[in-house]
Amino acid sequence: MNKKECKVAIIGGGFSGLLIAEFLQKKGYKNVTVFEKENRLGGKLHTIWYNGKAYEFGALFGLPNQKFLTDFIKSHNIKVDGPKLYRVNYDANGKRIMQIPKESVENFVEELNRLPDVLAHYNNIEDANIYNLDECLMLPFAKWCDVNNFDILKTIYTNYFTSYGLGDINVVPAIYVLKVMSYDNLMSFMELPHLYTWKEGVSKLINALEQQIKDIRLTQNVIKIASSKDNKVFVHTDFEVAEFDKVVLTTPLNQFYDFYNEDLEMQDFLRSIKYQDFNVYAFIVEKVPKKCGFVLDNLSSNKRGHIILWNSRWHTCEGEELVMVYAYNHTEKSKQILLKTVKQDLLKLGFYNPRLYQTKQWKHSPYVDTSTLQKGFYDKMTKIQGKNNLFLAGEIMSTISMENCIKYSKYLVDTYF
Ligand SMILES: Cc1cc2nc3c(=O)[nH]c(=O)nc-3n(C[C@H](O)[C@H](O)[C@H](O)COP(=O)(O)OP(=O)(O)OC[C@H]3O[C@@H](n4cnc5c(N)ncnc54)[C@H](O)[C@@H]3O)c2cc1C
Repeated sequence: MNKKECKVAIIGGGFSGLLIAEFLQKKGYKNVTVFEKENRLGGKLHTIWYNGKAYEFGALFGLPNQKFLTDFIKSHNIKVDGPKLYRVNYDANGKRIMQIPKESVENFVEELNRLPDVLAHYNNIEDANIYNLDECLMLPFAKWCDVNNFDILKTIYTNYFTSYGLGDINVVPAIYVLKVMSYDNLMSFMELPHLYTWKEGVSKLINALEQQIKDIRLTQNVIKIASSKDNKVFVHTDFEVAEFDKVVLTTPLNQFYDFYNEDLEMQDFLRSIKYQDFNVYAFIVEKVPKKCGFVLDNLSSNKRGHIILWNSRWHTCEGEELVMVYAYNHTEKSKQILLKTVKQDLLKLGFYNPRLYQTKQWKHSPYVDTSTLQKGFYDKMTKIQGKNNLFLAGEIMSTISMENCIKYSKYLVDTYF
């Protein structure tokens, strides 16, 4: 079909949805509509403002080695002008600690030197699409470390991966960990002050895209996607039903398993997608300890609900300030109990008089488990792309991070449109 006439709907106005819309428009598609259920764009790129300063509810930073992100900000004339990030590791009582004991440093260096050769074995891990997945990458990451004798790296990865809410490495398969934290990313991560942040927050990236996209519909929750006899796709919102030639999903995919009502395997796959329940609290505090604090004592799964990370983005310690506090959700505990736990943790860490300003609960870092990968989850996802004119994108396809969203969104448009 002629690109000028082809009507494309993109469901989800997060980073992936807006990127796909922009890539399509650049390719000559004239009828691209983005449906977003909230009254704001951006999804997990979510900056909030307090006393004239920007703070992040979702993504915090990019890495300078990330090629797609670097190209994106250059091509949209976005300056990297945000505050520097620092990392300080604490125990649960606010005492500073080392990431790994001194006596392990030599072994750490040996493992780090060996890591690139081990990763070189997987020749498609850097590709946008996940396919022909090596059996070993389907194992939980901790097991993958055992297979490769990476004892210290297991701790280091826990300290980075788990503390950003990405999950328990004893459960999450190696592919997800290594897609987010490749060797280059890990090295980049260790030099926190060099990371990309933006004075006006990550939403700056969303604003740049918003200006390019012609047809954006906010507060339009898509409740159903259905095929018509003549191979068109109906998009049902709370308000209307609209007809399109092609539809791209960038939302959590399990909402739309009904579309595949003749494909039980696909329905099971979509239902098997899991998320990290992750809470972000914005507290107004006085006397803010400077920098970012990582509470390494709280990274094990029996410490759910406790603070794992706090970020005092503007590094001031005078007067009142907003501090973003991160904790895995504990589904069996009430919101009141969880807030009490977090406040007690803050006091132990040396904060004074914390008052809750706003919170956000994320379905963060989607993944499927080892057995679902072994059943061929990603091969099926690749095979089903475009069937009945429905295309799948977003975090479960790209794996998380702004870099991976750009890489996958570009791949999808280049390959199928
Ligand atoms: C706390 C946190 C910290 C992070 N830190 C970083 C970081 O430092 N660096 C980094 O690179 N990445 C980070 N990430 C990950 C990064 O933010 C995400 O991978 C990326 O933003 C995902 O974009 P997306 O568009 O694929 O998904 P989303 O942002 O989830 O967008 C999906 C959109 O779909 C909308 N939607 C859902 N259902 C419907 C429906 N039925 N109808 C219409 N719309 C719907 C949602 O409202 C949302 O806007 C972080 C994420 C979180 C949560």
